[in-house]
Amino acid sequence: MSLTFDLHSHTTISDGMLSPTELVAYAAKQGVDVLALTDHDDTGGLAIAAEEAKRWGLQFINGVEISVTWKKRTIHIVGLKINPEYPELKAGLAALRAGRNWRAEGMAASLDKAGIKGSLNGAYQYVNDGIIGRIHFARFLVESGVSKDTKAVFKKYLVKGKPGYFEHQWANLEEAIRWIVDSGGVAVLAHPGRYDLGRTNMLLLLEEFRALGGTAIEVVTGSHTGAHYVEFAKYAQMFSLKSSVGTDYHGKGVSFMEMGRLPALPNNCVPIWQDWPEALLTSTNVTKNNTA
Ligand code: AMP
Ligand code: MN
Ligand code: MN
Ligand code: MN
Repeated sequence: MSLTFDLHSHTTISDGMLSPTELVAYAAKQGVDVLALTDHDDTGGLAIAAEEAKRWGLQFINGVEISVTWKKRTIHIVGLKINPEYPELKAGLAALRAGRNWRAEGMAASLDKAGIKGSLNGAYQYVNDGIIGRIHFARFLVESGVSKDTKAVFKKYLVKGKPGYFEHQWANLEEAIRWIVDSGGVAVLAHPGRYDLGRTNMLLLLEEFRALGGTAIEVVTGSHTGAHYVEFAKYAQMFSLKSSVGTDYHGKGVSFMEMGRLPALPNNCVPIWQDWPEALLTSTNVTKNNTA
């Protein structure tokens, strides 16, 4: 029986709804065999999740999703099999988190100008043990009746050109890939179908990503359509990049897809786990290993 991989997910350490222990338990119940936790710019959930994964007989992979500015656009680079203790990665992520705090102040100041008061404290009320992000502002704005739901609040306030959007400089692509790779991990371009790049820039991005040491792109991911699977499988082939799979799970009702429900990679893809020891185990002996 083939294994179910989910290599992109979030917890309350970033903008997910489940705690690291809850996420692992949920993944196990949904039939995931190999799970990576990839919180935004924060590795604070990994140790607890890894511990919990042992109890469930689930293979766990240390991950992170790094915010990057490339050609004035925000893109996300997922790091898998990272060492969260690697000093440069640790320092880089700490700087990104500090940047998130300044950005939050900027966002609150511009919302204030638009007549929405108290959003900084309001947003921090929704932060758990990790980063502050746009989701925490969204939750505050919905709770205080400014918008009816998260989707509406993003559209009206939290995206480029809207009052609560604050231009921010994240990591650059070269350093993000370097932190990941030097820590022992592999770099994955997250959800490329979500970047409004056009073909020319997508080709440039993939070229640069590969030249800098990137390994894979997400082909099957929660926010991709069937047409995206086909498109990005082709790009992966074109650039000899491997392919990754992940729900990008954030919680019930706030995710594109439930865990354990992703379709298989198209046949022309080389899975990122091709040479991973995790891929050698079958579901049966994962369970056996754990109970032994
Ligand atoms: P940030 O890194 O703080 O800018 O927040 C980005 C996160 O916000 C993404 O990872 C998503 O979880 C969430 N997000 C972005 N756009 C939307 C949207 N239109 N609706 C709901 N959530 C969104
Ligand atoms: Mn998110
Ligand atoms: Mn992302
Ligand atoms: Mn994500």
